[in-house]
Amino acid sequence: MLEKVLIANRGEIALRVLRACKELGIKTVAVHSVADKDLMHVRLSDESVCIGPPSPTESYLNTPAIISAMEVTDSDAVHPGYGFLSENADFAEQVENSGFSFIGPTAETIRLMGDKVSAIEVMRKAGVPTVPGSNGPLDDNDERTLSLAREIGYPVIIKAAAGGGGRGMRVVEDEAELLKSIQVTSTEAQSFFGSGVVYLEKFLQNPRHVEIQVIGDGEGNAIHLGDRDCSLQRRHQKVLEEAPAPGIPDQVRSEVAATCIQACKNLKYRGAGTLEFLYQDERFYFIEMNTRVQVEHPVTEMVTGFDIVKEQLRIASGEPLSIKQEDVQIQGHAFECRINAEDPEKFIPSPGKVKLFHAPGGPGVRVDSHLYSGYNVPPYYDSLVAKLISYGASRDQALMRMQIALDELLIDGIKSNIPLQRDLVRDAEFQKGGINIHYLEEKLNS
Ligand code: ADP
Repeated sequence: MLEKVLIANRGEIALRVLRACKELGIKTVAVHSVADKDLMHVRLSDESVCIGPPSPTESYLNTPAIISAMEVTDSDAVHPGYGFLSENADFAEQVENSGFSFIGPTAETIRLMGDKVSAIEVMRKAGVPTVPGSNGPLDDNDERTLSLAREIGYPVIIKAAAGGGGRGMRVVEDEAELLKSIQVTSTEAQSFFGSGVVYLEKFLQNPRHVEIQVIGDGEGNAIHLGDRDCSLQRRHQKVLEEAPAPGIPDQVRSEVAATCIQACKNLKYRGAGTLEFLYQDERFYFIEMNTRVQVEHPVTEMVTGFDIVKEQLRIASGEPLSIKQEDVQIQGHAFECRINAEDPEKFIPSPGKVKLFHAPGGPGVRVDSHLYSGYNVPPYYDSLVAKLISYGASRDQALMRMQIALDELLIDGIKSNIPLQRDLVRDAEFQKGGINIHYLEEKLNS
């Protein structure tokens, strides 16, 4: 087993990783910016190192500072959490070249999945269903592009191979705009992402966002832990997630999961990952793979009783998968509300001093948060300050427990989106299950 892990992240996920390390008897090193010395996990870790000023580029994205912290503290491995350097292949490579373990897939896999065109190709070869489209980069053969789009049918979407964070995409409604749109998207992609490579897909009108959690041992063995529905989004940011995704026929669900496993086996995938799909008319369409632990992993943990972060640490220690696919049982239902320090109506970040923090409890309630009374939420980072998770034997019970927990949760001193979450868990359409990715924005605009 690893002896000492450096946690290259902050906030709730750093605390989550720290707890998993403690359970496995692994020592922890927290690295933090000047603005983060009062973070909960910094106080609870065995050692801590300040790695730079508040700006993420000079601290949490500062590869040399993080690697020297690993050297100084004699750490074995680095857990990157999500965001920051978690999907940066160059970072993973430099960590391993310096003689440390990167808790995640190989740099090669991260690179392959980071390019959407190569990711789609890998998935198609494994039988994973993808969106009808160009199946590769668009070239300057305009006639071929025009006839391809005609064949697929409008609207289509032009996407940057190197895109991310909901940027580098453009929907095209009809043929007259196609070539111009390709050119504009490509030029933008070149300046944002350093690569002008774009591809074309059918634009699905009313899909849901459904994703599948996978874990591989890096030797060709892999399992899946079922699916999650993350359709409640604003500006491509997930707001409220659940597991399992409601109303999907068992056969459709198990067929797609089997293809995901095949893809992971082909890749000799190492660690935790998520295949993201759009789901419409009982069909799955792969859009991208995240090669890291995700914010919403707790809902999967609740319905499987399986600790994803501990498994990441075990795999990085060179252990085999601790369970077999047939041991994975999906039981009950779970929800996660992301609690952000922001204005619930205008969505402007609301950093500042938390005068009082009171976490809810009771059966089936989990709170993943680094908040405490007196903590100062700095203005430099993501506004996520807590994840409220509920579990129930049925979807209705989990939802009821979430309503109660949201009413108990208190964050005083700063604004938060708790009022929005309270409203969402009482929304009649959401309660029915199966709303699409446009639902929240339509609701907010009405
Ligand atoms: P990013 O890496 O920037 O998040 P994704 O490929 O995951 O990009 O797409 C982000 C979002 O864009 C999706 O969740 C969905 O809302 C929308 N989208 C992407 N591709 C399509 C498509 N073919 N049809 C409809 N919507 C799409």
